[in-house]
Amino acid sequence: MLTLKDATVRFGDRAVLDAVDLEVAEHETVCVLGPSGSGKSTLLRAVAGLQPLTAGRVLLGGADQTGVPVHRRGVGLMFQDHQLFPQRDVAGNVAFGLRMHGVPKAEQGARVEELLDLVGLPGAGRRAVSSLSGGEQQRVALARALAPRPRLLMLDEPLGQLDRGLRERLVVELRGLFARLGTTVLAVTHDQGEAFALADRVVVMRDGHIAQTGTPLEVWRRPASAFVARFLGFDN
Ligand code: ATP
Ligand code: MG
Repeated sequence: MLTLKDATVRFGDRAVLDAVDLEVAEHETVCVLGPSGSGKSTLLRAVAGLQPLTAGRVLLGGADQTGVPVHRRGVGLMFQDHQLFPQRDVAGNVAFGLRMHGVPKAEQGARVEELLDLVGLPGAGRRAVSSLSGGEQQRVALARALAPRPRLLMLDEPLGQLDRGLRERLVVELRGLFARLGTTVLAVTHDQGEAFALADRVVVMRDGHIAQTGTPLEVWRRPASAFVARFLGFDN
């Protein structure tokens, strides 16, 4: 459902995304791993249309997205740092995506309730964002990304700031959520355990290109290079 062909992003003479070819199938969950600065967030932003490509193409459902604005791509994006609106309450944050995606006003209230139930925050709509814990804010950001029912959900370090217990609980909830909604997911994570628990397939990035892709087990058992092996924490 998602295809990147030769996708390239240059800043000056540096290719931050370097001729990346990638396919993500319908209903697949793909986790992107790689060192800091390897281009993971840039990849997501390019698919969302927030980062123009210097060369190459992004296709969604077979359609070339060149020139298609962010809100018409049918993708949901949850940023590395949540980016909730502190001046809006929880419902206002979740509904924000709905307006952008053209969901009629009359349907928005029910959709917000549905999503808050889904992420385990029923009835929290009137609460101030500042009164929520970090994990609760993370769920609100997730609800906002899911609310427009995007065909492709992209999560950038969705559990990044949470403690281990909360992470483990949310990973299980997310897996169930994605399965129920049939969502296709492209998620960045630093956490290998998280990637291996969530992903049908992992993509390991290095300096703007894909160093290896495969099922978690394949990559874990047969790292394609010394770089991947080192990244996974093997000594040799
Ligand atoms: P992290 O794990 O730290 O989030 P990342 O893999 O998401 O890293 P990116 O944010 O994609 O990395 O950035 C890749 C590289 O591109 C970095 O070296 C970054 O400094 C550079 N970069 C990103 N955006 C710009 C920009 N607008 N101008 C110049 N360089 C940029
Ligand atoms: Mg990043």
